[in-house]
Amino acid sequence: MHREGKQLKSYEYINDFNIEGFQTDLISWFEREQRDLPWRKDQDPYKVWVSEIMLQQTRVDTVIPYFLSFVEQFPTIESLAIADEEKVLKAWEGLGYYSRVRNLQSAVQEVHEAYDGIVPNTADEISKLKGVGPYTTGAILSIAYGVPEPAVDGNVMRVLSRILSIWEDIAKPKTRKTFEDIIREIISKTNPSFFNQGLMELGAIVCTPTSPSCLLCPVREHCQAFLDGTQSELPVKTKKTSVKDIPIAVGILKTKDDKFLIHKRADTGLLAKLWEFPNVEVLKGLTLPTNQLQEFIFNEFQVEASIGAIVSTLQHAFSHLTWNMTVYAGVIEGDVKETERLKLVTIDELESYAFPVSHQKLWKEYRTSQPI
Ligand code: SF4
Repeated sequence: MHREGKQLKSYEYINDFNIEGFQTDLISWFEREQRDLPWRKDQDPYKVWVSEIMLQQTRVDTVIPYFLSFVEQFPTIESLAIADEEKVLKAWEGLGYYSRVRNLQSAVQEVHEAYDGIVPNTADEISKLKGVGPYTTGAILSIAYGVPEPAVDGNVMRVLSRILSIWEDIAKPKTRKTFEDIIREIISKTNPSFFNQGLMELGAIVCTPTSPSCLLCPVREHCQAFLDGTQSELPVKTKKTSVKDIPIAVGILKTKDDKFLIHKRADTGLLAKLWEFPNVEVLKGLTLPTNQLQEFIFNEFQVEASIGAIVSTLQHAFSHLTWNMTVYAGVIEGDVKETERLKLVTIDELESYAFPVSHQKLWKEYRTSQPI
């Protein structure tokens, strides 16, 4: 779309665009300036895949140590395919968006069984693997196999919407298609890997969301937004609807011999299969939710507990909702019938279970506030 609101076909955006000059400037800059990142050491498709999945919704600095330890623990397709799921979740603990790693392991198992352990090299096959969307497909194909396939994420849409002055709403799914069509036209056929990585790198370190460093930009002379002075107005992105606030009461309950009650979440849905301390969504209008928490623990786990003082309050935001958690310390009065999903564990044992970030934080606060 033009600023005036006129919808353009993808090829119209590149009518007068100097494609070759742009490729050369982008790729030679990437060759010179790329950051030294561990997943750039080789083009092993498995490692490219792991890094791309980790980098979804997570910053590079956070991903680096996780990536190094993950590929050390699971260096090959086979080692991840046959690994114990608990261990895999533990290796991901703290990265968030855990469905990413569960999907990664099932997809890797499929590659192990159906493709002899070799990541397939066609868009058709890769995109059928669990958790592998069009962006990851393009990233693996271009970086590991040198196939000129677009890899379009929010970063790339921001950069290209500025360079080509595209005023379409990048929050709309159909806009991605426009960008993919454009990249198919302008991607370097001789070095698609560096072309795609160059665009990603440019978005990460130069053409950043709020203050693009245009004066240092290697493709400034190709950039329409820079010429027009509209770089701060692009990309166009409509706001998402507001997130839902959910009040939650959490009980950190211990027995007289200092064991703690933990519970494994359901196999599907938010934070599936991770461990947590018993918790319940507080009913609307309830000012003192300790009775509700006590009843919930009895009804759900057949455990009698007395709930004591508030240990801390904590907020944890997901993309679509926020948990407002109030954490109570408590004591288990009777017996606990342990199951696969309900355990009493010592402090040391607790360390080996995979918890979501929110519960890791509240456990930390509990440890600093309570003498054990
Ligand atoms: Fe982004 Fe500025 Fe470079 Fe254009 S000139 S691509 S707006 S950093």
